[in-house]
Amino acid sequence: MTTLFEELKRVKTFEYTQEDVREITELHSEIRELKRHRNAVVVAHNYYRPEILKVADFVGDSLELALMASEVRDADVIIFCGVHFMAETAKIVNPSRTVLLPNLLAGCQLADSAPAVDVEKKIAALRAIHPDLAVVSYVNTTAAVKALSDIICTSANAAKIVRSLSSNNILFTPDRNLARHAAEQVPEKNVIPWDGFCYVHQQITPEEITKIREADPSLKILVHPECRRDVALLADAVLSTSGMVRYAKENAAERYLVVTECGLSDRLAMEVPDKTFVKGCKLCAFMKVTTLEDVRDSLRDLKHEVIVPEEIRVKAERALRRMFDVEKGAVSAPGDATAPRCE
Ligand code: SF4
Repeated sequence: MTTLFEELKRVKTFEYTQEDVREITELHSEIRELKRHRNAVVVAHNYYRPEILKVADFVGDSLELALMASEVRDADVIIFCGVHFMAETAKIVNPSRTVLLPNLLAGCQLADSAPAVDVEKKIAALRAIHPDLAVVSYVNTTAAVKALSDIICTSANAAKIVRSLSSNNILFTPDRNLARHAAEQVPEKNVIPWDGFCYVHQQITPEEITKIREADPSLKILVHPECRRDVALLADAVLSTSGMVRYAKENAAERYLVVTECGLSDRLAMEVPDKTFVKGCKLCAFMKVTTLEDVRDSLRDLKHEVIVPEEIRVKAERALRRMFDVEKGAVSAPGDATAPRCE
């Protein structure tokens, strides 16, 4: 059986000393005890620090976390180890639970690039031209933008969501790269992108990827759809984080270049230890700001509670539930009479 030190050593994002691991082990015990005391669950995004993933009850990407949070029944408290919009999403779908974000600095530059007041103005301007306009928002948006949206999507289901709508004209917020990726798969729709991007994925250049591939032509290149188009064009597959995990598990290839936030390469190295993951990645400062101490303090002191005003929550939940319905197959055919509509 591998030790915690050996497991942590396998991931390269952070360097861990034996002293770090001793402290981490003590904090893990403290956190597990506090979880029992508070009747809490810890959910964590793939990109989080590996020592936090070790105490999480559930690890996943945005969609997986949103679905999981909506189904929490037995726990009173959800400790959300993600960024602020994700914790808001958990509160939106499960308002009777106390949702805590361990560190308030865990925001998101992409979500912040689409302020609700600006999105509202853009919708009004576009509806004057396209009366059938529908608004699709990536889950990486604030609760207030979700409330303005007809339906939410993730990087895993963006094309499926766009295809499910009866409207031909679609404002897609906030990520222009994901909007373009969805538009390429659904050419029959007029997808109008909001001009936002994720600073982490935007930094990755085709030159970097080409250099790594030239040094090792056997690599399978997996690219996240938030990356630039010139990077996506170099990929063997363009996949969401959960899609990358599945692909690496199911594909026969031994070596992969993972082009996204570095935390996913760490998760892959832990979950698929018999394969090699070369990093063509960048770190998201927002995803790394939370520490195990923050998680412990959050559980101990019940901080920081995420509040979503009810009038926003109800509208945002409607948009999210529509995505869940499409995912569950309740709504799937283009032009389906029950498909989400502009209102
Ligand atoms: S990786 Fe990009 S989209 Fe994700 S939390 Fe960081 S800034 Fe936001």
